[in-house]
Amino acid sequence: MTYRLVAMPSTKPAITLLSPIEDVPGVGPRRGEAFRRLGIPSVAHLLFHLPHRHEREEAEAPIKDLIAGAVVTARGEVTATDMISRGRKPRFRAVLADHTGRLDLIWFHGGYLRDKIHPGMRLLVQGNAKRHPRAGRNDNALQLINPKWERLPETDDPPAIAETRLRPVYPASEELSSVAIESAVDAILEPALSLIEDHLPPHFHKERELPELADAYRMMHKPQSTDDVVRARRRLAYDELLMLQLGVHLRRAQLRATMHAPALDWSEQIEERILARIPFTLTKGQRNVIDDLIADLTKPTPANRLIQGDVGSGKTVVALYAMLLAVASGKQAALLAPTELLAEQHTESISGLLAGSKVRIELLTGSLTPSERSAALARIALGDADIVIGTHAVLTEGVRFADLAVAVIDEQHRFGVRQRAVLREKAGDEHSMPHTLVMTATPIPRTLSLTIFGDLDVSTIPDLPPGRQPIKTVVLPERDSAVAYEALRARLEKGEQGYVVVPAVDAEELRNVRTTMERLEKGALAGKRLAAVHGRLKRQTRDSIMARFRAGQIDALIATTVIEVGVDVPNATTMIVEHAERFGLAQLHQLRGRVGRGGVESACFLIGEPTTPDAEARLSALASTTDGFALAERDFEIRGPGELFGSRQSGLPPFRVADLTRDLDLLGMARRDAAQWIDRSPGLEAPTEKLLKRRLFKAYGVELGLGDVA
Ligand code: ADP
Ligand code: MG
Repeated sequence: MTYRLVAMPSTKPAITLLSPIEDVPGVGPRRGEAFRRLGIPSVAHLLFHLPHRHEREEAEAPIKDLIAGAVVTARGEVTATDMISRGRKPRFRAVLADHTGRLDLIWFHGGYLRDKIHPGMRLLVQGNAKRHPRAGRNDNALQLINPKWERLPETDDPPAIAETRLRPVYPASEELSSVAIESAVDAILEPALSLIEDHLPPHFHKERELPELADAYRMMHKPQSTDDVVRARRRLAYDELLMLQLGVHLRRAQLRATMHAPALDWSEQIEERILARIPFTLTKGQRNVIDDLIADLTKPTPANRLIQGDVGSGKTVVALYAMLLAVASGKQAALLAPTELLAEQHTESISGLLAGSKVRIELLTGSLTPSERSAALARIALGDADIVIGTHAVLTEGVRFADLAVAVIDEQHRFGVRQRAVLREKAGDEHSMPHTLVMTATPIPRTLSLTIFGDLDVSTIPDLPPGRQPIKTVVLPERDSAVAYEALRARLEKGEQGYVVVPAVDAEELRNVRTTMERLEKGALAGKRLAAVHGRLKRQTRDSIMARFRAGQIDALIATTVIEVGVDVPNATTMIVEHAERFGLAQLHQLRGRVGRGGVESACFLIGEPTTPDAEARLSALASTTDGFALAERDFEIRGPGELFGSRQSGLPPFRVADLTRDLDLLGMARRDAAQWIDRSPGLEAPTEKLLKRRLFKAYGVELGLGDVA
């Protein structure tokens, strides 16, 4: 954020928010460098460098009144000193006494203090007080570990700290302590605060019981009470959330106003023709989502919809419906899958459903020869292909469509606002873009769907097609893996099929696949028909293995995560995941979704030795439910929002103050407020909104593609 430069009505060198850090009294050029290295080049940056916590600092007190657990200050006379060397850590100890009691001061590696601190000396000390059971005694001595100390003159002077206060603890560095930052803040706080303009009108924050912006900063740096800290945090967190929400809603309003998409035809006849291609009755969830899609796609506004449905909920036919609507209007559709394997499988199953129709399907993957590829590109550009199926990479490669109306992005867990900008380019002119549908089996936790994905409409398929059997999930330690392999073997004997998944992130680990296969061929699965699939196989080889597996000519696949998404072989009923602790929760849920797709009860064995609490939590979450929505929420709790909200998923900068796990109420409030605000003032053009708009564009303009600052 930038702040308006206002000259101070003063004769002293005026501090402005843009003043370089060196101008802060007491900082100067040498320290200035240290501030800059901490990311604090100016007064404004100093003001926005917020304490990450506050410590209660007690007023100086007689030793018997000191409180354990607080930062305490005391003075007294050193009555004894010694070195304690237990193990490798020599510690220097001094006993400090006043007329009320005694206190142990301990310095780790404090040998250098032997020559500095002597009995009889008077000291002022400050540090975190802890109770420590003194060996051989039943009283609990108070201890200060590595206290700050200062030698006192013989004459008594006034107490160092007269009042209890909350001391801000700043993110600091080795060369620049929190205390040094605090004194720099002290030097500029009031004059700097007087220059801060609030971007929210007074009535607005009053109605929400939020403090004014300058007050919030004051209370953060110099709180009078913990209540001040809470109130200040609330305002600053709310601001961040509101800014993002305003950005998202503004973006949406801009798109609505400037972009158009083809309004597709829909009629009962079209519906009948499409449904005739789908060999089963749609579930209620599928039907509802399709109704959402019909409403979207028949409008000239670009749809932007996320379809979430658990693994196996039948998202493919929903996508097919949307694509056939495009084709019925004489336009093109694209289906983008995360892997070639999945693109190929989609091509196969969709070609099956559309067999005998006039719909022309084009598969575009990286394994086409250059001449095949240019022929395919020509067909797409000339409109001779109706449905184009390919990997996500198709987006970024130089593919031009004749008339792309619907783009379906399948199994996309990470998508930012930017990706849609790419799609926009796929359409003819700069003001048109295809309707975009994103399908995911990794539902976005409710909280997140309200933030980054705030500009997506969301439809959910909450149910599974009838007849699905639950998947029994068992977590086993490595030494019990025989149990899993016996179970798998028993299933294979019955003519069912299975998967053994091994982690393999690099070429080296691909050997795991081979060694696992050799081990199983000789041991647990001897006599069974096994084959290995992984990302390094040639496409033809992999295709033929998958085809044989589907046809039942292979009993079990030893696979890497290439089978993670979408592979659909209903006769596969058992999965064993080796080193399950190495996979993420969402990934394991996806993997597990490869079984339980037919009418037979399925089993999933997760073999692993979790070494971290997180890994353990993931595995037990998986064993406890197969509900992808519950798992996504759990994953969010385990990993925290940082990971998800980080640049990886959204491409947006992280929050400074807001915390999605605890600021849910603020998020809801910010979202409602932003929606109303943009409704009322779609372009933020009012003179009173100027500052807000400037700060908003500064924070999110680029990331959200908000266009040029007005
Ligand atoms: P996902 O949502 O994981 O992509 P798919 O679209 O691959 O799920 O569907 C999983 C399986 O369920 C497929 O074999 C599909 O043919 C089948 N299926 C989809 N919808 C239904 C339905 N309404 N009734 C019966 N089977 C269905
Ligand atoms: Mg799918």
